[in-house]
Amino acid sequence: MLTSEKLNQYLSNVLPKSNILTGLEERYAYSQDALNTPEIKNIAGAVVFVENIEQIQAVVKLAAKHKIPVVCRGAGTNVVGACIPENNGIILNFSKMNKILEINPANMTARVQAGVVVGDLQKEVEKFGLCYPPDPSNLAVSTIGGSIAQASAGAKAFKYGSTKDYVLDLTVVMADGSILKTGSSTIKNATGYNLSTLFVGSEGTLGIVVEATLKLIPKPETRIVMMSYFDSVDASIQAVNSIIEHKITPATIDFMDRNAIQTVEDFKGAGLLTNKECALIIEVDGLACAVDYQKNIIEKILVNYGAAEIQISGSDDEYDRIWSARRASMAACTRLKPNVTTDDLVVPRENLAKLVSGVREICEKYGLTVCMVGHVGDGSVHPQIPIDYNDAEEYSRFKRAKSEIYKLTAKLGGLLSGEHGIGMLKREAIGLVINETALDYMRQIKKTFDPENILNPYKIF
Ligand SMILES: Cc1cc2nc3c(=O)[nH]c(=O)nc-3n(C[C@H](O)[C@H](O)[C@H](O)COP(=O)(O)OP(=O)(O)OC[C@H]3O[C@@H](n4cnc5c(N)ncnc54)[C@H](O)[C@@H]3O)c2cc1C
Repeated sequence: MLTSEKLNQYLSNVLPKSNILTGLEERYAYSQDALNTPEIKNIAGAVVFVENIEQIQAVVKLAAKHKIPVVCRGAGTNVVGACIPENNGIILNFSKMNKILEINPANMTARVQAGVVVGDLQKEVEKFGLCYPPDPSNLAVSTIGGSIAQASAGAKAFKYGSTKDYVLDLTVVMADGSILKTGSSTIKNATGYNLSTLFVGSEGTLGIVVEATLKLIPKPETRIVMMSYFDSVDASIQAVNSIIEHKITPATIDFMDRNAIQTVEDFKGAGLLTNKECALIIEVDGLACAVDYQKNIIEKILVNYGAAEIQISGSDDEYDRIWSARRASMAACTRLKPNVTTDDLVVPRENLAKLVSGVREICEKYGLTVCMVGHVGDGSVHPQIPIDYNDAEEYSRFKRAKSEIYKLTAKLGGLLSGEHGIGMLKREAIGLVINETALDYMRQIKKTFDPENILNPYKIF
């Protein structure tokens, strides 16, 4: 591996000096993800800010020649160590490639650079009466490149699907510096293997996404959000099943458990009911008359299943108040301990109540507090466990609890990630839920795309 000085010298031949950071503090700062997990700490040899495809190709060719690992960085908000570099590797920072290149209302597509922030794209397309539905909770900062690499979803996946359902075409720089295009601007594509889908969720291990053409849909005419509280998780899930049986497809069916409600209320004073076991956050959108009709049916179902209070957004402010409470859960957890961990478990929806109660029991057994939020519609839950990384004994309890939680998820027919990815944090556990033959094929795909293992190596497996 090259020294940082030598690496800097080579990089200066292909990039403006002002686009290269080699100071120790800078390399350290850009080598983190959002969780800052103690056992996955490496420091890059250089951070480079790329501005166009040619610069990326030049850096990748240099990396291939000297066998230097390269990792892309969007906003660095993933929570599985996916953007942690190899020691002395190169970080490709996409913050300067943040242009929306085209919004095409006739085709209902957008063509964007990889560093575009998801929330910025959403706001821009809304000006054309259009909508880009994937909505990771941190859409105010996370990037299109990062959300493609992690197959991000969010609250609206139940009705609208996730990032993978909106990627029509990607322009990708491959490990040898060549350019690959995965599709076209057409809505349908049955022309050969679906390479777009292969890149979505590949965590930057197969190629570097520089541009994406994304599908848009018409912006729903109106939307409301309803927050209701229950005395039991079971009752809330039965209510959800009944809503779906009534042929209603809400845009979101989100969930907060007792600890999450209490922690957010202490943090924000958002007017949440703190004496209940859990809350559902249900959003309905579409034509105004249909929204009103569905709201009335849902209200009746919620009452039938024992909802204590139903708060319905009557204005944009009310809508934002409810959603900002739900989205604040991870930030609120940081008030409980110096660090907060989150996870991303998904099971068939019929097993969700068992997963929630099982995770709670495991955390109680190990003396850990857990705040759970999730997307009930998709059967996915995020247990957020506040801890102190400097407390070795607590950290060891946490790791034992994690291992039991993963085994429980596998037993309930689930997977270790519905939307956050595997990265470095869960790679040892992936064999619990993915069959060995499938893993072998995945490793062969990686080898075919990146024979020298320079693109974000050692992530996923
Ligand atoms: C508070 C909080 C809330 C969150 N809520 C959600 C949620 O609701 N739903 C959800 O799905 N996720 C959620 N996440 C996880 C995270 O937001 C997503 O993984 C996110 O989309 C990552 O985007 P990013 O720009 O920060 O990517 P980064 O963290 O910078 O990178 C993530 C991965 O993408 C790769 N990458 C980045 N750019 C490129 C590129 N151009 N080409 C190839 N690979 C690339 C990186 O190498 C890395 O492997 C949340 C995270 C936090 C901290």
